[in-house]
Amino acid sequence: MGNKVKTAISPTREEDYPMWYQEVVKASEMAEKSSVRGCMVIRPWGYTLWENMVAILDAEFKETGVKNAYFPLFIPLSYLEKEAEHVEGFAKECAVVTHHKLEQGPNGGLVPAGELAEPLIVRPTSETIIGESMSRWVSSYRDLPVLINQWANVVRWEMRTRIFLRTSEFLWQEGHTAHATEEEARQRTSMMLDVYTKFVEECLAMPVVKGRKSESERFPGAVDTTCIEAMMQDKKALQAGTSHFLGQNFAKGSDIRFQDADGKDQFAWTTSWGVSTRMIGGMIMTHGDDDGVIMPPRVAPAHVVLLPIFRNDEEKKDVMEYVNSLAGELRQILYHDRKIVVEIDERDTGGARGWEWIKKGIPVRAEIGPKDVEKNAVFAARRDRTPKEKSSIARSDFINGMVEMLDEIQATLFKRAKDFKDSNTHQIDDKNKFYDFYKSKEGIHGGFVMAHWCESLDCEAKIKEDLSVTIRCIPFDSPEESGKCIYCGGKSQKRVLFAKAY
Ligand code: AMP
Repeated sequence: MGNKVKTAISPTREEDYPMWYQEVVKASEMAEKSSVRGCMVIRPWGYTLWENMVAILDAEFKETGVKNAYFPLFIPLSYLEKEAEHVEGFAKECAVVTHHKLEQGPNGGLVPAGELAEPLIVRPTSETIIGESMSRWVSSYRDLPVLINQWANVVRWEMRTRIFLRTSEFLWQEGHTAHATEEEARQRTSMMLDVYTKFVEECLAMPVVKGRKSESERFPGAVDTTCIEAMMQDKKALQAGTSHFLGQNFAKGSDIRFQDADGKDQFAWTTSWGVSTRMIGGMIMTHGDDDGVIMPPRVAPAHVVLLPIFRNDEEKKDVMEYVNSLAGELRQILYHDRKIVVEIDERDTGGARGWEWIKKGIPVRAEIGPKDVEKNAVFAARRDRTPKEKSSIARSDFINGMVEMLDEIQATLFKRAKDFKDSNTHQIDDKNKFYDFYKSKEGIHGGFVMAHWCESLDCEAKIKEDLSVTIRCIPFDSPEESGKCIYCGGKSQKRVLFAKAY
């Protein structure tokens, strides 16, 4: 044996990052691949995390006047066809329902029967079907704005799937709004991107770059797609959320018209915006280490696990009494908008028990044996530190310091991720250097490069073809600055963000 520290997850991030990710997800018991192609089973530890994310986001949406509604899973083909770019963009990844029953086939098995007059598409996104409703709800400027959100599952027949990051069926929310003016719709687009940014940075502790997509990366049918991009630990980018300004394209397709204050007939201006279960994958890839997931306390399914230690019934009685009363007190404490969630794991599995919770990423673990009871203390460890760093803390300090400790863990995770992103973001002005960077050991998996671009689709496409590097966004905070396009040397006014991406 060398000096290598034994890790709970094998392979390590360094050894094989994609495999590490799969193993981490499995070991955390958050989700598993289902036998249905490209689909996943989200287990309670993962689903509780999702519920916590939903609760925070949902409250934030409502704060801005948005209300929830629900629309059908199926979209008639003719609806999808109402926006030409939109249908073209999604045509290659649609699940299509063509029959409505099963019959006994000639060879005994069941076969689809009862062909539908018009095929139904399992929604890949709901602009067109929600637009159909909006067209009936809106007739005057007084009916606007319409501010709708739905929490739902959608299906996109993805070719290369990866749990949470890209699945054929995924959970998300999709916001859809209609407005009387372009300005108001643009404001809504940016307001919702701000809501996402705040959530992802403050709750998931993932620093992001905010910006606008280039034309080739736009949502099909949108005038403008804005997004937040995060950096994973393999230095690749992950699109963590999008907010689209749809102009009047979808309003024209779905006939969302209204009479303005002067009695003139106008098309509405619409937006749509969404985040999905992909954020969970992003969170794992941002914070996880070679011992597994690290849950940011703000969204963690549970904050603290108490691990009682006893050898006999007598010890068990004392220890459990102490543990239960400690849990009771901790559960009264409010951490942000949520009471502290405490797990008690009484299973007699020796060392394996502690490691299971490490792999699940619970923020705080506390072992409690007869000696701790005697000292009125706990033996505690934090998930943002190494597994060996455990210390005896007085019971009262443990309770009174819990909120601060969780906030500290949250802040540490964000800072670590931000330092990582910043130190792996480079400005490059020379084409050879740019190419060398993405072909060098350092850049092979990515890294963010801020470089000039002349806005030509051609230059963008060539870079993608040569290096599998794409323009992730044109960051909002990229200053006006004259430069030369990294590919052709043509005039450029701004640096854009290049990276390899998930
Ligand atoms: P879009 O409607 O394409 O703008 O996507 C909305 C949100 O869903 C974005 O945050 C995407 O990152 C996410 N998303 C898109 N496709 C998938 C997928 N196959 N699996 C999980 N999330 C996805």
